Amino acid sequence: MFIGHYGLSYIVKKERREIPLWLLFTSVQLLDLVAFTLVFFGIENASYAPSENPFFRNQLFLPYSHSLSGAILISAAVFMIFWLNKNKSWAWILSLCVLSHWFIDLVVHTNDLSIFFGSINVGLGLWNYPYVAYATEILFLLIGWLLLKKRNVVSVVLLLLLIGGFSEMLFGKEPEAMKHSASLRSMAVLISNCLFILIAYFSEGKTERNRLFMKTNS
Ligand SMILES: [Zn+2]
Repeated sequence: MFIGHYGLSYIVKKERREIPLWLLFTSVQLLDLVAFTLVFFGIENASYAPSENPFFRNQLFLPYSHSLSGAILISAAVFMIFWLNKNKSWAWILSLCVLSHWFIDLVVHTNDLSIFFGSINVGLGLWNYPYVAYATEILFLLIGWLLLKKRNVVSVVLLLLLIGGFSEMLFGKEPEAMKHSASLRSMAVLISNCLFILIAYFSEGKTERNRLFMKTNS
């Protein structure tokens, strides 16, 4: 899943207002951020394959970032950082957000998610129905966004960018150079996700967005 993960950030934000939105955005997408960094360095693989179904144009081999075992390790590391180092009582929520990525991906992926570092592949295959998958992502994002207690111009811009960027990625024409270069495509994914996280940072007031850096444990 792509932008649908951010829907979960909004839902968690509604319940736990003390957690900065940009941190929730980073947590739910952390596995993709790790994946495309590893693809950039050639450790994991995402090669281009022409397909009528836009979700299948990326042939993924992500044995570390997108295996259940890898996801558990990454979410445990997030817990350690925020609990032991930052002493945040909501560290467990962040680590569950990280782990949620794998389970939400499980619904859409087709047999390319593994349980243990590349072995025992699973996936429930919603991507076989591209329009249903597309609508599900947007619906999930919208439901979360509508639950937000505070909405402003920046959060509207963010929502439009998320939906616009996702639609363009699926239905727009991909530049030829992108098709042949896994590192270019991974850079594009990384940059767009970092942009979304940055806008999420500015969508909140100064106190809320900087709560991570405060001495309090809430
Ligand atoms: Zn993913």
